[in-house]
Amino acid sequence: MWFRQDLRLHDNEALRDALEVSNEVIPIYVFDERVFNTTTPFGFKKTDKFRAKFIIESVENLRKSLRKKGSELIVRIGKPEEEVYKIAKAAKTNWVFCNRERTQEEVDVQDALEKALWSIGQEIRYSRGKMLYYTQDLPFPVSHTPDSFSSFRKEVEKFVSIREPFLPPNSIPSFTSDINLGTIPTLEDLGHSSFEIDKRASFVFEGGEDKALQRLHSYLWETKNILRYKEIKNNLLEEPFSSKLSPWISQGCLSPKKLFYELKKFEKEHKANKSTYWLFFELMWRDFFRLMGKKHGNCIFKKGGIKKENSLHLKDDYRIFELWQKGRTGIPFIDANMKELNATGYISNRGRLNVASFLIQDLKVNWQMGAEYFESILIDYDPCSNWGNWNQLAGVGSDSKEMKYYNIISQAKRYDPHGDYVKHWLPELERIPKERIHIPDTLSLGEQKEANFVLGADYPKAMLNTNRWTR
Ligand SMILES: Cc1cc2nc3c(=O)[nH]c(=O)nc-3n(C[C@H](O)[C@H](O)[C@H](O)COP(=O)(O)OP(=O)(O)OC[C@H]3O[C@@H](n4cnc5c(N)ncnc54)[C@H](O)[C@@H]3O)c2cc1C
Repeated sequence: MWFRQDLRLHDNEALRDALEVSNEVIPIYVFDERVFNTTTPFGFKKTDKFRAKFIIESVENLRKSLRKKGSELIVRIGKPEEEVYKIAKAAKTNWVFCNRERTQEEVDVQDALEKALWSIGQEIRYSRGKMLYYTQDLPFPVSHTPDSFSSFRKEVEKFVSIREPFLPPNSIPSFTSDINLGTIPTLEDLGHSSFEIDKRASFVFEGGEDKALQRLHSYLWETKNILRYKEIKNNLLEEPFSSKLSPWISQGCLSPKKLFYELKKFEKEHKANKSTYWLFFELMWRDFFRLMGKKHGNCIFKKGGIKKENSLHLKDDYRIFELWQKGRTGIPFIDANMKELNATGYISNRGRLNVASFLIQDLKVNWQMGAEYFESILIDYDPCSNWGNWNQLAGVGSDSKEMKYYNIISQAKRYDPHGDYVKHWLPELERIPKERIHIPDTLSLGEQKEANFVLGADYPKAMLNTNRWTR
């Protein structure tokens, strides 16, 4: 059983399939050296420290859970197509089971492994474990998935039922082959220094299925914050503003079907409202992007996107990009979000929408640079969700109705009316009066003196005059 982005025992279809037909199952996870120790085409670390740490914790938790069930987890660093192959050959297994991935890099790895296995008379057996919906239950073939989210939703949500998640196995037979278990790498082994979580973070993520289930339980049953989700999902500071389940969902520590059935149980036993529905609605977005990835393949990664647009006006401008990336644009709402992202690996959906729109539509920088940076830094990076959202914001996605221009200052005033969020991440703006917190570039010299603040020294001058959004 080759674990990939499905680091869980509950609702793990590949694991269930393996157990159904085998007397012996050998669980294995490979830290793919191409995912951890390389850089992206624009020169970012492919997997930065936040996600690397989260994955290490998730694998540790998986090993612990497998041990409790009577089994083990073999761990390797290298190329899965070589490491899994070596074990399959040495142990003379029949099949390698895994949950199928659909994006190019992941497909290349599974294809290479499959070829290697064929050479020794073995094969891969694929299962499906990523989405809420099974593609075979949808009322259309993948190639005919509606390109607009609302059409997709209307065709699916009322008519297609979501299958129940599989329970975790009661036990897993231990394997008899004598295989070196391997040690789980440290952050240093994966090319990062160890680090402390930033004290300003609104939430501390810890990888693993156990923590995922705890968070789910606390968000629904203990705090019942789910009941306020729709009202507060655009808040920026407080911890409960959204479920914070994304890193666990992305690494497969939590199955979306499990989340859905827990929501239904909560609605039945406690209460259903617009907020409980809305979390399901957001999960449908995730399925939609995954289906767009399947339908349009590599287009989601290309500059012209799904629409194959000519995006020549967007430049690979590293100088401008770096100001954005480091949170030094002089536009507090953008800088605060980028500082939070750089310090924690996470920002809210509202923050993501704004910084991405600003990079593309105001700075006219190639959106792929932003998407690649997100791929590097996000703790919850998921190929289809990330590149799909960036496609949409760049206007090259499948759904042109979803492309919006975000007026940064209106957004800042609406979602951070008192500037609390901005001041949290940019303490140098502490003394700026509330009315000007989002537009410090408009302070006269006299006003700067009064606030004991020097624009250009204490905080960068705005790279774009904010009156473009306030006129
Ligand atoms: C430019 C951009 C890049 C993004 N990159 C990623 C990414 O790499 N990985 C990722 O999981 N999400 C991504 N998102 C979607 C969204 O911002 C995050 O899923 C969400 O902020 C995570 O916080 P949460 O778990 O508290 O979300 P909640 O608001 O509690 O939502 C619950 C779950 O629904 C799913 N979801 C919610 N919104 C979206 C969405 N717009 N698209 C797809 N799935 C969604 C996630 O799995 C999320 O955990 C991106 C959004 C934008 C605008």
